[in-house]
Amino acid sequence: MKAENIRSRDDLNLYNSLLKEPDVIRVNESIKRAEQKGPYSTRRHLLSTSIRLSPQMAPTVHSMKDECAEKLGLDIPLELYVYNSPQFNAACFKPEDGRLFIMFSSSLLEAFTGSELRFVMGHELGHHLYQHHDIPIGYILKGSQKPSPKLALQLFSWSRYAEISADRAGALCANDLQGVARSLFRLSSGLSDNVIQFSLDDFLAQMDDMQEDEENQTNRGPKEDWFSTHPFSPLRVKALQLFHNSEHSCVDGMSTDDLEIGVHSLMGFMEPSYLDGRTRPSEIMRRLLFSGSIAVINASGEVTDEEISKFESFFGDHSLSEKLNVDKIIKDLPERIQMARENTSISQRMQVLRDLCLMVVADNKAGLKERAVVIDIAEALNVSPAFAETHLDVTRELD
Ligand SMILES: [Zn+2]
Repeated sequence: MKAENIRSRDDLNLYNSLLKEPDVIRVNESIKRAEQKGPYSTRRHLLSTSIRLSPQMAPTVHSMKDECAEKLGLDIPLELYVYNSPQFNAACFKPEDGRLFIMFSSSLLEAFTGSELRFVMGHELGHHLYQHHDIPIGYILKGSQKPSPKLALQLFSWSRYAEISADRAGALCANDLQGVARSLFRLSSGLSDNVIQFSLDDFLAQMDDMQEDEENQTNRGPKEDWFSTHPFSPLRVKALQLFHNSEHSCVDGMSTDDLEIGVHSLMGFMEPSYLDGRTRPSEIMRRLLFSGSIAVINASGEVTDEEISKFESFFGDHSLSEKLNVDKIIKDLPERIQMARENTSISQRMQVLRDLCLMVVADNKAGLKERAVVIDIAEALNVSPAFAETHLDVTRELD
């Protein structure tokens, strides 16, 4: 199995189309100009804030790194760093002077062993292998020129598929589905083996329950709370299980086409496909996202003309046919929430709320007043505020 061949198809397609986006081109050009002036030294920063792990200091981690690099066909000098933190975390930086850097938190390096650590290492190397740094999502979202809401949601959408690709690279290095799932579970729960006995079957069963809920359009149950605190990792585990059962991993596994269709429909759970949908629930969801966004922007002062035109271009294509009368839109919000409660499933409402949060984050507007509006909307939608909190704190970088 070749690492290039296992990249998620949706990642690749979105990546190629995002690279042609004027906003992405503009940010990449400005990064390039800044680098020519005087390179921002990641290495210097790492050396001053973290400890470089030499092969003598950490022989096991280094040999693991060499094995992973070989499996992924990477031929680039790699430096490993560790920084002091109780949170499990790892990151890979864009190479500098032909050297690649991976950084781990001290707690992760202490707690993760064997295939768990191989998975994390392979995942980080995967981001480099698939050139995910070519779409500098953090810079684009944090820059002074804000991307359109549509581009912001596309970037988040791509970043989820980018994680799927990186996970596959990690799975290739670990070659142990149980270890990989345990690793993802521990990353999202922060728990160590001393506390819980991880069960892959239980973890996947919860995922199946979530999907069943979606199909039955049932009301809020305890599963939603679980989804709230771990919004993403069960989907990633499920996507990895499909990968594990595909022709990439076993001789008579499912075809790559079937794998990609499976992953796409799995992730559809998280995709803002209602933005283009023609069904009544899709329209209700769009209207809710629209009014919710206006209410949030309005939380700390007047909605500017620039914001209005941005929203018009975003929602205009979907024939919402409304004039931007801010007061009226806000006044109608409770009615729209009620419509959503009557006509959409709990996970559809969670999807809209998630997208609302991402738009707030992309806009760099997650202040106290804005958060309060989002929390109110969550409560009115009968979605737990913790779910909104999780997504308001979402990072604007790849993890
Ligand atoms: Zn990642």
